[in-house]
Amino acid sequence: MTIHGKVVAITGASSGIGEATARHLASLGAVVVLGARRTDRLDRLVAEVEADGGRAVAVRVDVTDPGDLRTLVTTAVERFGRLDVLVGNAGVTRISTVADLDVEGWSAMVDVNVKGILHGIAAALPVFRRQGSGHLVTVVSTSGLKIVPTQAVYAGTKNAVRTLLEGLRQESTDGVLRTTSISPGYVRTELIDHAVDDPAVREQAQRSMAKLGIEPEAVARAIAFAVDQPEDVEIGDLTIRPTRQG
Ligand code: NDP
Repeated sequence: MTIHGKVVAITGASSGIGEATARHLASLGAVVVLGARRTDRLDRLVAEVEADGGRAVAVRVDVTDPGDLRTLVTTAVERFGRLDVLVGNAGVTRISTVADLDVEGWSAMVDVNVKGILHGIAAALPVFRRQGSGHLVTVVSTSGLKIVPTQAVYAGTKNAVRTLLEGLRQESTDGVLRTTSISPGYVRTELIDHAVDDPAVREQAQRSMAKLGIEPEAVARAIAFAVDQPEDVEIGDLTIRPTRQG
């Protein structure tokens, strides 16, 4: 089975890359199970997908709560009979130097970006093993490939996930699990809107993003490429960045 008919759960599906991925995969015939906290947005997306003839369901998910990830996975299995792919996309960033000691921001990034993925693995892996197949796609970042000031902790969380996935891959060579790490560069989404409290710094970051960033659909297409591969092919790492990104 390639994309058509696959049941794909996506965290952080209420905006940006997650929303674009949901729309794109649904347009290719996937059944999408959408998780995020802003359920009004998810409900609107479900209605759009259904109006276009697709199948979708929304689940309120806070990825910092392991129980919410279990609900996401259970909903997929109960409503559609299985879960083929979990896209661990939900994420947050903060723009600040380590010396700024934004301890709250550090906790939020670790809780959402790292523990959120672990909670997804805990919920999905038993189902994948029971089914005999499953695919875990995570959205990491080029911030973890080229480390830049003010993004050290964020980069650390993304590289923690990259490392985790490589370890999981090596533990999973029996053909049941596929793992993919997607590394986007600058993508025009809402991510930057919540990244810094100082309005001047935020506006500067938003201007740079508007100028340089690519559309989230570019990342959605990369995720679709990984999901579309035959069972014996695993796309391990994919980097998608603006052509002009340094
Ligand atoms: P957005 O801010 O548009 O989307 C982030 C998504 O994460 C939202 O749907 C939000 O949903 C969800 N989210 C945040 N916190 C939680 C939580 N506790 N529980 C559940 N969902 C949560 O940004 P992007 O689309 O850009 O971000 C998607 C991923 O892409 C992130 O992992 C990000 O780090 C990564 N990325 C983004 C890049 C960029 O330039 N934009 C570059 C590289 C990587 P809600 O608030 O409704 O819960």
